[in-house]
Amino acid sequence: MSEAILRQLVDLSRYLGEPNRAYAILGEGNTSARIDDDTFYVKASGAVLGHIDGGGFVAVSRSKVLALLDDPAADDAAVTRVLTDARVDPNETRRPSVETLFHALLLRYPEIKFVGHTHPLYTNMILCSKKAEEAAMGRICPDHVVVMAAKSVFIPYVDPGLVLAREIRARVDAFIDEEGVLPRAIMMQGHGLIAVGDSPRAVMNITDMAEKAARIVVGTYALGGPAFMSEKDIARIYTRPDEKYRERTLAKQGG
Ligand SMILES: [Zn+2]
Repeated sequence: MSEAILRQLVDLSRYLGEPNRAYAILGEGNTSARIDDDTFYVKASGAVLGHIDGGGFVAVSRSKVLALLDDPAADDAAVTRVLTDARVDPNETRRPSVETLFHALLLRYPEIKFVGHTHPLYTNMILCSKKAEEAAMGRICPDHVVVMAAKSVFIPYVDPGLVLAREIRARVDAFIDEEGVLPRAIMMQGHGLIAVGDSPRAVMNITDMAEKAARIVVGTYALGGPAFMSEKDIARIYTRPDEKYRERTLAKQGG
């Protein structure tokens, strides 16, 4: 069972790390996959997505990682210690990256089985620009809405690691409260994209569409700026899933 999950995760990672896509170079980006209610695979620190194999992932306990987010005294040393202790295999020598924190909190939701975090070229042209929020949050055409839903989560730039993970948790919780559904994409200013889904294909599609839309949006700024879809037009395209998360019951689950 977990071997099949690992194989799917390897395929997803190689897809996202394929050099022509320009989603990640060197050790950039990371991916994860839910194993069971507590454990998940996450890319080991320094592994290269484009030619990763099963040995490039570490199995980690979600509850152990998430305890950090609620510890006001946690510092960089605590993060390193907890990430080391959270490894399922005591003989494991590889270390999960510091971005494991946000993978753990997104994998709290049972519908999120795979997470892909990348630094795509055009998406980051937007996210590293002065118009980051406006350009990343707008919707430009019906297919953009179909794949990425009506809205994404925007995260203003904050310190990577613990501070970033806490900011993501707060803003994803707020998104769920307002929208009643889980987000599909999280746009981090000055950093990159997180795509989540119940399959590797969902994560690939969201990442591909985010990057295609970003290329178009970047181009439109040379022609007077993007003509984003109106909320009314977005609502006509967007088929809202059941608002099962409106009550925030599951948002609290598993810490
Ligand atoms: Zn990153």
